[in-house]
Amino acid sequence: MSVTFAVHMKPTLSFDNTTIAFASKSNEELKQAHWLFGLMGKPWIVQLGTRLAPWSIKAGLPVKGIIRKTIFRQFVGGETLEQTAPVVARLAKSNVQVILDYGVEGKEGEEAFETGCQEFIRVIEYAATQPNIPYMSVKVTGFARFALLEKIDDLMERTPAPSLVKKYEAALQQLPAQEQEEWRRVSERMLRICEAAARAEVAVLVDAEETWIQDPVDALTMVMMDRYNKGRVVLFNTIQLYRHDRLAFLKDSYEAARQRDFILGAKLVRGAYMEKERKRAQERGYPSPIQPSKEASDRDYNDAVHFCIEHLDVISVIIASHNDRSNLLGVELLQKKDLPLDHPHVHFSQLFGMSDNITFNLAEAGCSVSKYLPFGPIGDVVPYLMRRAQENTSVGGQTGRELLLLKREMQRRGM
Ligand SMILES: Cc1cc2nc3c(=O)[nH]c(=O)nc-3n(C[C@H](O)[C@H](O)[C@H](O)COP(=O)(O)OP(=O)(O)OC[C@H]3O[C@@H](n4cnc5c(N)ncnc54)[C@H](O)[C@@H]3O)c2cc1C
Repeated sequence: MSVTFAVHMKPTLSFDNTTIAFASKSNEELKQAHWLFGLMGKPWIVQLGTRLAPWSIKAGLPVKGIIRKTIFRQFVGGETLEQTAPVVARLAKSNVQVILDYGVEGKEGEEAFETGCQEFIRVIEYAATQPNIPYMSVKVTGFARFALLEKIDDLMERTPAPSLVKKYEAALQQLPAQEQEEWRRVSERMLRICEAAARAEVAVLVDAEETWIQDPVDALTMVMMDRYNKGRVVLFNTIQLYRHDRLAFLKDSYEAARQRDFILGAKLVRGAYMEKERKRAQERGYPSPIQPSKEASDRDYNDAVHFCIEHLDVISVIIASHNDRSNLLGVELLQKKDLPLDHPHVHFSQLFGMSDNITFNLAEAGCSVSKYLPFGPIGDVVPYLMRRAQENTSVGGQTGRELLLLKREMQRRGM
């Protein structure tokens, strides 16, 4: 059992139970995962791979087969929506839910944006037919031009106004007519996604991306939350606590939600673009938006967990992390307040292919927990895969921990 009883009779959770963590994995799958994490623990291999893979695919070299059998299988649910079904069903057996993610990135052009929007709606409609897919995620760059987002972000930064939404409205006024029209199409796509989600009762998680496009993403999401999150949560924004300004942003968002009487959907992450962010800030000579240290990111992340659980009347929170301490903190705070571990406003989530020890032990303890499960053609999910490879090599501890747990389970099974 993963749940033991301490002196105060509250269940104490442990993430070390590998029997529960890997119950759904065959011996062959364990071996494969062990081999892959071992490989990702070698920085030079990851560096080489992350440079060569995107280039090889563009050049039409026959590398898709290798990617499919290795990193794709570990982190992605399939090439099509339908292919995710067995993975989703397997997770359901352990009471693990799914955040379905159409993982195609980096496509530009009105036609691609329209296709992206339609695909997001198809995911919502599919999720509505499944018992354990209450969430799906979108990237605004999936249906908006990156350079337009960057331009609006820049205008917002230079426009003095009392709130994020006011800055956004003022910035939009400054766009030439053609780009105002282009943005109108973006808002309309977001509206169609929210309408479909509200109708289907599936919540939409808006991913956070690079800081230099994030302000219009945040503003658009706030406007939609104000409209759709009345008495229930249709939309979640993502707060990246590796940014030093985001704890304050979370508190401002809470204040706006309280005043305007909507529920703030807050998905808490540390953040996936750290190296890119620091590099750009250095190259362009502006102060880095990233925290000065891992400890500072951890402190703000855990403060954000505290803040959300203190305000569950207004906030619905998703603790999206592979950090043991942050997940345990969420559980401990619920227990301290005598709230159920499956409180409707507290959800936990980890990426598919990572930290099964956290996900499956949380599920076993009765928490509401999911895997974030991307799908898409191999060539189109490469940016996502490269982020996972980098995350698993550069983040001290994560790979080592995965390897240790996999090894322990293999030994337990006598492999
Ligand atoms: C369900 C889910 C959804 C996600 N959605 C998004 C999203 O929308 N946008 C996004 O950007 N990411 C997203 N992520 C990815 C997430 O950002 C990374 O998986 C996460 O940062 C890894 O951190 P961790 O919380 O698992 O904990 P840990 O492994 O304890 O922390 C690692 C993280 O700490 C931060 N960090 C590491 N070193 C330093 C340092 N020296 N200084 C400052 N900070 C440091 C980095 O963010 C690093 O990724 C999502 C993750 C999950 C599980």
